[in-house]
Amino acid sequence: MADAVSTERKTAFLGLGIMGAPMAASLAREGIEVVAWNRTADKAEALAAEHENVTVAGSPAEAAAAAGAVITMVPDAPQVEEVLLGRDGAADGLGEGGLAIDMSTISPAASRAIADRLGERGIAFLDAPVTGSRPKAEDGTLTIMVGGAEEAFDRAMPLFEAMGELVLHMGPQGHGSTVKLINNTLAAVNAAALAEGISLARRAGLDLDKAMQVVASGSGNSTMRELKSGAMIEGDYDPLFKLAHMLKDVRYFLAESREMGVGTPVAETASGLYEEADAEGYGESDFAAVIEAIVTKSGLK
Ligand code: NAP
Repeated sequence: MADAVSTERKTAFLGLGIMGAPMAASLAREGIEVVAWNRTADKAEALAAEHENVTVAGSPAEAAAAAGAVITMVPDAPQVEEVLLGRDGAADGLGEGGLAIDMSTISPAASRAIADRLGERGIAFLDAPVTGSRPKAEDGTLTIMVGGAEEAFDRAMPLFEAMGELVLHMGPQGHGSTVKLINNTLAAVNAAALAEGISLARRAGLDLDKAMQVVASGSGNSTMRELKSGAMIEGDYDPLFKLAHMLKDVRYFLAESREMGVGTPVAETASGLYEEADAEGYGESDFAAVIEAIVTKSGLK
């Protein structure tokens, strides 16, 4: 049976993509033993080659069996379910008393459903999504927002501290996911508006650097201007955060809002733009590529 001490010492990390790999590396740097598993095994092997306290497991169950806690960082709820509760899933290895922490962005409803299924097996669950793209994952300065029982949160704290700077227990199961969807939808809406502004500036023949300098010093400034204006202007869509993942988050925000009877005219419009960019083939690109939907609407393609 897993306990708090083993949780701190040895943790399984499942999903070593853009975010998962640097997050697992942060754990290793802080002296935590990481048992890594990734669907494409060479990413786990690459991590183990760089950190002496990272070992590689052949399945989620095998990774979990060697650890007290499991962290998942995969695209969406079906993949979280698969690696935790599917065949050779981590729940088989964790057993009663284990702790599963999902740091992917999934819906609050899915978080609660997974928590219920794990709870039946005596496994505690936290929804603990993050903000901050790859650079903050690399620095161990992510913001981590957590839903679930206080006791499980306390137990996971050494892991969160290794990966994050601001760590907040938001409340009951699903509250971590809910605030994450709110944050990302604000970013998505803002990036879509930025894309429109840049498109008008370009069409009007403005000096784009100067235009962005004005925005940076004015009330139109934003984190999205800071992070994405260069990528939008250059057309550099090397993914830090994939457009398909942003679209997923906005869709979950809309579903949650509908469920709660909250009107979402702005987010619906933004969602449409991300859908169009996705349909144009930009799903695996950075979400800065939302500007391509505006380019298409402007008759520039
Ligand atoms: P990513 O680069 O696409 O990585 C996805 C990971 O999930 C990879 O390790 C992938 O394995 C694995 N995976 C995919 N399908 C799987 C399956 N069916 N079974 C098992 N593993 C599977 O995504 P990411 O950017 O790291 O994002 C992960 C999560 O964090 C998403 O929920 C995203 O919304 C959220 N997030 C991302 C950012 C960001 O800036 N990127 C920031 C905050 C939150 P393979 O290597 O085999 O493909």
